[in-house]
This record gives sequence, structure tokens and C-alpha cells, in this order.
Amino acid sequence: MIPSDTLGWGTARNCIREVYEYGIRLKAEIGADKVFDFSLGNPSVPAPPQVKDAILKALEDPTLHDYTVAPGRPGLRKAISDQLNARCGVHTLPEDIYVTCGASAAVTCSIKGLLKPGEEAVAFAPHYPEYPVFTRTAGGVFKFCSLRREDLQMDVEALEAVLTEKTAVVLVNSPNNPSGAVLNEESLRKLADCLYKAQERFGHPIYIISDEPYRELVYDMSDVPSPIQFYDNTVVCYSYSKSLSLPGERIGYYAVSDRATDREKVFASLAGAARSYGYVNPPSLMQRVIEACLNLKPDIRTYKENRDILCGILDEVKMPYIHPDGAFYLFIRCPIPDAKEFCEHARKYGLLLVPSNDFGITGYARAAYCVNGEMIRRSLPAFRELSREYGLC
Ligand code: PLP
Repeated sequence: MIPSDTLGWGTARNCIREVYEYGIRLKAEIGADKVFDFSLGNPSVPAPPQVKDAILKALEDPTLHDYTVAPGRPGLRKAISDQLNARCGVHTLPEDIYVTCGASAAVTCSIKGLLKPGEEAVAFAPHYPEYPVFTRTAGGVFKFCSLRREDLQMDVEALEAVLTEKTAVVLVNSPNNPSGAVLNEESLRKLADCLYKAQERFGHPIYIISDEPYRELVYDMSDVPSPIQFYDNTVVCYSYSKSLSLPGERIGYYAVSDRATDREKVFASLAGAARSYGYVNPPSLMQRVIEACLNLKPDIRTYKENRDILCGILDEVKMPYIHPDGAFYLFIRCPIPDAKEFCEHARKYGLLLVPSNDFGITGYARAAYCVNGEMIRRSLPAFRELSREYGLC
């Protein structure tokens, strides 16, 4: 018998892909120059040239195509733990690192490895739309709570209201997809404080899974604080999809904090989850490439410029939005409560935006600005028309 949940996930249309695919049809119909496609989070900045050099070098290794050990090559795990320790002031060992096929695999394995069927995972809305799928496939119950609506920082009351004795996992994603918001240190300290108290109250550990694929993509601050700096029971999930522009190459990792309760058991359980999903080892070529390119800094000038152009346009047409500090997404506040209706109207002007409904929040539209800057500039008249339609300008 075909299970209804997997069948449902396989047939339901992903909200982002749906808009993107509509865009492909629209471009063919009316011409690409009349479509302003802000749908997909595909990095527009090319991978650094060192990536190509590292690929060519790796091709000379006759063992390149062999299996590697399941958690990844020892040299790469050491390099990752050294980097994480230097950055976050923790003391992980290579044995705390498991290299995965991107952040998706890292987060799925972490959820499955930390949550028993029937237990709850809590995310903050707006949240990445795959979290409910990842949670339910592990037999868990997905819940979410709101951040403060005005600035998308921690709302402790909302969090406390959603925590129960069944809470096993809290999912944090900063810089955030879909809003571009970055949780500040104060928010993370409040979160840690609240979870330490909840652990006391419920008498069991609650783990943060910190999904950080956009960690490097911040514009007005020097660094992004990570929950691992403030809360012991943290697993960091990372990806090179965005920072090194390698989304198709499927490479990332999870790292268990050296201060986590039952650290070794946690690592073993997450490794068991990887095994149960059939993630034997991530691509061997990419493991070598990342080992060589780990400390490269992404060139984020293009994204910053794009952000500033888009913010300038929205300011000019008086369309309100949440000012994004990181990632490459911006959240427009819809002038009507129904985001789907708003995004539908935007299509009339060739503007492709993703409604916020599947991100656990209503009334916003996501614009991904990892696109051609020229296209953003040309979208001004379309945004102006849309704004006029709602009497904003
Ligand atoms: N988590 C978040 C918040 C994301 O935005 C994405 C990709 O867009 C992922 C996880 C998955 O990343 P990866 O390509 O590394 O699997």
C-alpha cells in the first residue's frame, strides 16, 4: 500500500516551486524581459574560482570515487570543528561532526535522531516550509510559535505557551528563510534562558537544532550569533549551498555541541538516523573540495547591492516590508490579509512573489533577491503599479 503521507508530500505542490514553474511558463508566453521573478533561492553569485581548482586537483586522486567513511573524511571533520570552535568559542572535536548532503539531510537526521514518535518539534514562524515534513517523517508533531511581529525577534511568552513536556526539539533558523531576519544576541539569550527553565520543569533535555545555511550572508553586522554560543544542547546544521554557491552539489554538516547532554549518544543517534535514511556518505568529490575551500569568504557584495536596490524600490512605492539583515530574502507586508490573493495580483504585473502561508504566517510575500540586479531595477514600474492598485502610492 502506498503511504498517504509520502504520497501527499510527493504530489502536493511546493509553494516556492509552484511560483517558479509558473514563471517559466509566463516567460515563454510574454517574454523573459516582462517577468520579474523573485521566487527561488538559487544563489546568483558564482562559486569562487578556487572551487574549480579544487575539483580539478581532486580528479587526480585515483581513490576519488571510493566510498568514504560514513560521517565524512577525517581531515574535513577536523577542519570543520576547528572552524566552528574558533568562530563560536566551543570545543567540538572532529568526532562531533557529521558531513551530510546539505542542510536538508543535516536537519532531517537531527530531528529523527533527537525526537521519539509522538514528541514535538517547535519552530519559529516564519519558518522554512520543509520543517513540518522533516518532523512528521520522523513520527513527530510539528508546532510553531510566532516571533515579535514588528521586528521578528524572540517573543518569550509565545514560546512558553507552545512548550510542553513533549517538546524534544526547537528549530532555529537565523539568518532566516523566508524573512531575511537575523536573531540578535538578546533573542538567543532569552531563548536559552527559557529552554533551560523548561528542561528543569519537564525533567528532560530539549535540543535546539540550529539550521544555519545563511550564516555567512549578513550585510550590516560583522557576525551572526549562533545558539550554540548560549545553549549547551545545540546541534548546528550547516550547508555550503548558499555560502559557496554550491546548492546542486549537496554538501553540509551537523555538529553536536561538546557541552550537549549525552553528547556521544546524541551523535550516535543522529548517525543512526543518517543510516536509517540511507545517507551512507556525502559526495566524495565535494568533501575534498570543501576541505580545500572551507575558509573562503563568500562575495556578498552583489546580494547587498540587490537588497539595497529592492529596499529603495519598495521605499519609493511606499510598500512596507521587514528590513532584511541577512540571507537573500525580503518579506513584504501585504496590504491585504490574504497573501495568496496579493501574490496573485502581483502576477498581473509580471511580479513573482511567494505568499507566506506555507511559512506559518499570514499577510507577507517573500521576494528572493539572489537574482540579476538589472532585473530588480527594471521591476520598479511593476511594483509601482501594484502599490497604486492598493492605494499605497
Ligand atoms: N534550511 C533552510 C532554512 C534553507 O533555506 C534551505 C535551502 O534553501 C535548506 C535548509 C536546505 O539547504 P540544502 O541545499 O543545504 O539542503
